[in-house]
Amino acid sequence: MKVLKFGGTSVGSPERMKQVANLIKTEQGKKIVVLSAVSGTTNSLVALGELCENKKKEEALQASAELLKKYHAFIDELYSTDESKKASIEFVNQVFVDIDGLIEKRFQEQVAKLLVVQGEIISTRLFTTYLQEIGYAATMIMAQDFMTLDKYNEPDLKLIQKKLEQILPDVSDDIIITQGFIARNKAGGIDNLQRGGSDYSATIIGSVLGVEEVQIWTDIDGMHNNDPRIVKNTRPVSKLSFEEASELAYFGAKVLHPHCIVPAHQYSVPVRIKNTMDPGAFGTLISTESETAQTVKAIAAKDGITAIKIKSSRMVMAYGFLKKIFEVFEKYETPIDMITTSEIAVSLTIDNATQLRKITKEISEYGTVEIDKDQTIVCVVGDLIAEKKGVGSVLFQSLDEVPIRMISYGGSRNNISLLVASEHKADTLSKLHAALF
Ligand code: ASP
Ligand code: MG
Repeated sequence: MKVLKFGGTSVGSPERMKQVANLIKTEQGKKIVVLSAVSGTTNSLVALGELCENKKKEEALQASAELLKKYHAFIDELYSTDESKKASIEFVNQVFVDIDGLIEKRFQEQVAKLLVVQGEIISTRLFTTYLQEIGYAATMIMAQDFMTLDKYNEPDLKLIQKKLEQILPDVSDDIIITQGFIARNKAGGIDNLQRGGSDYSATIIGSVLGVEEVQIWTDIDGMHNNDPRIVKNTRPVSKLSFEEASELAYFGAKVLHPHCIVPAHQYSVPVRIKNTMDPGAFGTLISTESETAQTVKAIAAKDGITAIKIKSSRMVMAYGFLKKIFEVFEKYETPIDMITTSEIAVSLTIDNATQLRKITKEISEYGTVEIDKDQTIVCVVGDLIAEKKGVGSVLFQSLDEVPIRMISYGGSRNNISLLVASEHKADTLSKLHAALF
C-alpha cells in the first residue's frame, strides 16, 4: 500500500484534478489518497472566520456566496454527466448552508475551526465523485473518524492506527480518498493539524500503517538545495536522510509541513516528494539513506524570528540561571529554536512572539533583556556537517561581509544555523549558495 498526498495547487482546477486522477491510475495496488483543499479556499475560510470574529457578518456572507460561485463553475467544468453535476452542486450548496449557519452564530474559536476544514470536505467529495464518474472504484473515509489528537494537540499515533485498522478492512476498493489537515481533538471537537497540515496527515497515515512509501505530490520537483524564489540555479536534492529532511522542513524549506517527517522517521517509512507538473522527475526521496557523496545538502531560511538576549545581572552565570529562563518559556508555551551562551549572557530565538511581552517581563527579573525582531535563521543542512573539516571555514569566508547575530554549530550532526537580520537574508543565501555548491 502507498499513501499519495496532493496539495492545493495539484487539485486547484478541474483540469489539475483530472490530471491527479490519471496519476493515481498509474500507481498499482491499494492506495490512500490524501487531498488538500482547492488552493485559495483555506485562505478564504480563514478570512471568513476573521470577519465573523470582527462581527462583519454581512461581508462574511457575501464572501461565502462568492466562494460558492467559484465551486459552481468548478463543478460545471469538472464533470461531463448531468448526474455528477447535480449531485455535486447539491453537496456544495449544503456545505455553504452550513457555512452560512456558522457565520450567523455567535463567534467562538470552534466556529473558526469548523469553517477552516470545509475546503478539504469539498475537495475530497468532488474528487471522489469524479473518479466514480470515470469508472474508478473509490471509497472516501472521513479524517475526523480516525485522525485523533491527544491532550497536547499532537496526533495520537497509537489511537489513529487502531482506528484505521478498524475502518480499512471494510473497504474493498483500491482507491481510498481522505481529507488532509482535518483532525478531531481530545475533547471531541473538529480540529486541524495547522496550516499546511495535509502533508502531516499523509505521513501520519502512512507511518502508522507502515506503507511502502508516502508520496507528497506538489508543484515543485522536490526539496531544493536553496530557496528557488531567492537564489538562481537551485536544484532538487534527490536523497535526504530523515534527520536532514526534518531540519530542512523545520527551518524553512516551505515544501513540507515542519513536523511531517517526524512520524515517518519514527516508523521508518520513506517519503517521496513528487511534482504533479513533471511526474517523470525523480523528486526527493527521504529515507534512512542520504546522498553520501555530498556533505552539504541544502540551505533553508526561516523568517519572522525574534532574538532575545538576557545578560545576567551578576557577573558570572550562576548555576540554575538557564533553568529559570527556560521555565519562563515553558510557562508561556513558547518553543525556543536556537540558543547560544557566553559567560555573562544567553541569546535565544523564538518564532512565535505572541507571548513576548509577558516573557520579557518575567525574564527581566534575571537580567537585562534585549530584543531584536525581524531576524532570519539560515540553516545549512547536510550529513556530518559539523564534523567534517572545512565546512565552517568556507561558510564563514563567504559571509565575511554579512553581520551574523548568532551561530549554532554542533547541536546536531546535520545542521549549522546562523541568525541574521532579515534584510541580509537574500545576500546570505546567495553567498552561501555560491560558496557551498
Ligand atoms: N488546506 C490546508 C492549508 O491550506 C492544509 C494543506 O493544504 O496542507 O493550510
Ligand atoms: Mg503544503
